Amino acid sequence: MRPRVLTVLGATGTIGVNTLDVVARHPGRFEVFALTGATQVDRMAEQCRVHRPRVAVMNEPAAAAALRDRLAEEGIAVEVRAGAGALTEVATAPEVDTVMAAIVGAAGLPATLAAARAGKRILLANKETLVVSGQLFMDAVAASGAELLPIDSEHNAIFQSLPRDFRGDFQAAGVKALWLTASGGPFRTLSAEAIAQATPEQAVAHPNWVMGKKISVDSASLMNKGLEVIEARWLFNARPEQIKVVVHPQSIVHSMVEYADGSVIAQMGTPDMRTPIAYALGFPERIAAGVPALELMGRQLTFEAPDMARFPCLKLAFDALAAGGNAAAVLNAANEVAVARFLDGAASFNAIADSIAHALDRLAGGMAATLDDLLEADRQTRRVTGDYLEAIRA
Ligand code: NDP
Ligand code: MG
Repeated sequence: MRPRVLTVLGATGTIGVNTLDVVARHPGRFEVFALTGATQVDRMAEQCRVHRPRVAVMNEPAAAAALRDRLAEEGIAVEVRAGAGALTEVATAPEVDTVMAAIVGAAGLPATLAAARAGKRILLANKETLVVSGQLFMDAVAASGAELLPIDSEHNAIFQSLPRDFRGDFQAAGVKALWLTASGGPFRTLSAEAIAQATPEQAVAHPNWVMGKKISVDSASLMNKGLEVIEARWLFNARPEQIKVVVHPQSIVHSMVEYADGSVIAQMGTPDMRTPIAYALGFPERIAAGVPALELMGRQLTFEAPDMARFPCLKLAFDALAAGGNAAAVLNAANEVAVARFLDGAASFNAIADSIAHALDRLAGGMAATLDDLLEADRQTRRVTGDYLEAIRA
């Protein structure tokens, strides 16, 4: 079997590290063409040492220069490139057949969309790409014949629980609804008053998953589930009312598909992202992921309704989905700005939902036909949200 040739976008992040962990378990099966990061030079140098990619890209030019020096000192022959254009180059290079899209945020959109247009097999972790550019992205996948395999654990679970030949027709497949499970995050049992006082340290302390900071805050606000609702809408061609959210604090059932005959098919497992990553890397074969076996003896699995009053971000995401057009791009950009400010200690936790509501009020309803429309909505929203956060702080 010829090895699969991989580019890992966001290799230095938590999904990237887990991806390379699975790759290292299967010598000969994968060849690493390119690894990309933004700022973490030490980690990228180590990854180059171990995986010997042809190219390493650092989004930050200073980080690229530091990496180049480091690799030269150690005599490691890896070509180092810098900047967003280089991300797109390694995502579309003709040698590459598989792209792990694991940059965080809308920053991942241009390279991921380029990979879709180039007809690659895309392992999609970067959910913000689908939130911002859903229709455009899915059209690009359909036009080029690209293959899309979801990495987000919920969507990977749904993918596994749908018929293999599912092509987005719920009626034909007898599918009634998709059930996304949510852990509820670290604030699930807190009062609204306590949530209002939440600190960044509390927000990033997720009970079940180790993740990057941005998605950890999204999990605390339930915006992560909101983004996932929008992601599911595009990945599976679901209508909003066909997507349900249920809180399942143990994170064992990763999501479910409900069928017309009353059957509900779920995928379960130990919460470890290497399972969905290995599923997508090996597809259609199952390959080892290094994940401990699921221990069910003596465990309780519980399910409860999400509380949209304490977690308004989830409701805002359903609202943005219903509004259509550029609304999801506005929601995403406002969230990215507010989460970054919250992590810097410059905004309260509740300011995240307030900023999103403000941005949707001001900017939703615009065009979303082209990538330029979406990038413009993203830019405008970042400006409006920055100003709003300054104003409420003053
Ligand atoms: P991390 O913050 O751990 O990693 C983000 C990666 O993106 C790093 O490699 C980082 O580089 C790079 N990066 C950051 N900003 C830029 C930029 N402007 N341009 C290019 N690269 C950039 O995030 P996660 O790995 O947790 O998440 C990645 C994506 O996967 C997100 O979209 C998230 O929603 C999704 N996801 C994550 C899950 C998880 O369990 N972690 C689960 C499901 C989905 P550097 O670190 O070198 O600065
Ligand atoms: Mg998820």
